[in-house]
Amino acid sequence: MLYTINVDPGNQIIPVNTIYCLGRNYASHAREMGVEAPAEPVVFIKPATAIRNGDSPILLPSFSNDVHYEIELVVLVNDVPGNVSAEDANNYIIAYGVGLDLTARDIQANAKKKGLPWTLAKGFDGSAPVSRFKKNDNNLITTNTMLRLTINNQLRQQDTIGNMIFPIPAIISHLSRYFTLRRGDLIFTGTPEGVGPLQHGDEVTVELVDIVSFRTKVQK
Ligand code: MG
Repeated sequence: MLYTINVDPGNQIIPVNTIYCLGRNYASHAREMGVEAPAEPVVFIKPATAIRNGDSPILLPSFSNDVHYEIELVVLVNDVPGNVSAEDANNYIIAYGVGLDLTARDIQANAKKKGLPWTLAKGFDGSAPVSRFKKNDNNLITTNTMLRLTINNQLRQQDTIGNMIFPIPAIISHLSRYFTLRRGDLIFTGTPEGVGPLQHGDEVTVELVDIVSFRTKVQK
């Protein structure tokens, strides 16, 4: 399988490298998980093999009985210089997409209890379905840009990206202090409130409203 991102216009195909993810980046979601809003970005990683084309079915893994959806704005970056400033960060964004940070909540809860890493709960094969991406352009994304997720046509998650605790330029700047960000790296920027379990047969729509979206079905 090829782990790639399609960027429009022009259908440029870019191989995925590392997938960085932000945890607890919306105060509303931190609240629903019963944790404090963080003072510093909470960062974890998924392997590139977590990527799936959002239009293909979501296959629920056999090792979990509680896989949750988390809609997130996803940023595709170029090679980024180390310690980039938040002011300069926008120059290194290739494109924007929308994705799901699928989470085996039962495995995550167990790991949290024991103080263990989230990798199995967050990084399994297929845990990162994504849309096609749209090239970064001035004014493509604003603080009013909206994330919206429905299941079987019922609204489950909806918020504007202006409600992120750490905005995208601050996230890139922060990551670049620790990691060499390379062309093809993705950043999942966190989910707003309303997360919940997926069931066999669910129809899921995932939208970065008026920019990119995908629709898929959940299978056991
Ligand atoms: Mg998440």
